[in-house]
Amino acid sequence: MLSNILKKGFLSTNPLTSISRYASTSGQHTVLVVLYEGGEAGQKNKNILGCVENALGLREWIKQNKLQDRLKLVVTSDKQGENCVAEQILPEASVVISQPFWPCYLDQARIDKAKKLQLAITAGVGSDHVNLEAACKRGITIAEITGSNVVSVAEHVVMQILALVRNFIPAYKQVVNGEWDIAGIADKAYDLENKHVGTVAAGRIGLRVLQRLKPFDVHLHYYDKFRLDKSLEKELNVTYHPSVESLVKACDVITINCPLHPETEHMFNKKLISQMKKGSYIVNTARGKIVDRDALVDAIKSNHIEGYAGDVWYPQPAAPDHPWRSMPRHAMTPHYSGTTLSAQARYAAGVREVLGNWLDGKPQREEYLIVDKGKVVSRAYTEGDATKGHAQN
Ligand code: NAD
Repeated sequence: MLSNILKKGFLSTNPLTSISRYASTSGQHTVLVVLYEGGEAGQKNKNILGCVENALGLREWIKQNKLQDRLKLVVTSDKQGENCVAEQILPEASVVISQPFWPCYLDQARIDKAKKLQLAITAGVGSDHVNLEAACKRGITIAEITGSNVVSVAEHVVMQILALVRNFIPAYKQVVNGEWDIAGIADKAYDLENKHVGTVAAGRIGLRVLQRLKPFDVHLHYYDKFRLDKSLEKELNVTYHPSVESLVKACDVITINCPLHPETEHMFNKKLISQMKKGSYIVNTARGKIVDRDALVDAIKSNHIEGYAGDVWYPQPAAPDHPWRSMPRHAMTPHYSGTTLSAQARYAAGVREVLGNWLDGKPQREEYLIVDKGKVVSRAYTEGDATKGHAQN
């Protein structure tokens, strides 16, 4: 296996980026770790733990705990296409570690290939890149590092709401382009105060968004399958909506904070978007596939939706010609809200904890488990498959 990869030249270009130095050890369990490339930043900054170069601190952890004979670590960013490193290593992998920012989609075909797979760990939050239904059938445990980056995302949401409502991106572009057209910017700039802002889901992130927005003196709204405590609703002065339709009809700004699973896939389709207030905004840092790509572009182009922001796309990485890159009035970023340096330290430690527990046969923290013993155990998800279509770019 390794010799094939060597033949393909993965090691010859940069030994640290494609295959880790543990690739040739004889550990009992192969751990496939799929991460984004660190490039120059990742080589210089050891705190960028989520990149191939720094491998979530796993190399040092293996050394410190003398686990070289038990774990064979294969670290790669090469995850797309039939001959990628991830596909080649999957048949021998007992564990796959991946992350939402650079997801290794574990669809039915890949799970069928990964005959020895026992555990998939998400370095971060959001395990929709795994076919949960297939994982249940095979008894594969799916764990994520719940809570690790929820503040990081909530802050990004507030930033992007303000960027849209205050028309920040075109104003910034004027400065860079040597322009000074105040009316041109003021034409679409508002205060957030007094606007109706609603979140789809008030879980860990959605709740933190509500808490951060309260001092802006806005009218807060939410929709979730599960209602917040009455005392919390009162403290936040937030209105509950029993359906997403009711929520979108009431709000000037919608922020999406639910997981991607069969109930939420393409939730924001043509029909729901048409029920939103004319001139409203959407900020989606949850998952790209919760919004129908082309329905959104149409709604922006027809001026029904005033602006769109977020950091999530489908599939990831987004194709260079993804229409959200070039549609009008957006404030999109690449997927990085949950991978601030602050967040990386937390989820890297969580990944090492989960791997260590698995190796020692110890129980995992309950809140980290998404699928366990053949069942979806997180109430935020339903059994199903949200990985379809990931290979399109
Ligand atoms: P959480 O589990 O704490 O909360 C999720 C909430 O969604 C729950 O309250 C649940 O009841 C609700 N929900 C699920 N299905 C629903 C449905 N059909 N309708 C309404 N509500 C529904 O999760 P969290 O930590 O708040 O994270 C939420 C999501 O945000 C993650 O699953 C992930 O997709 C995304 N996320 C993105 C980033 C990023 O970097 N952009 C980072 C972390 C998480």
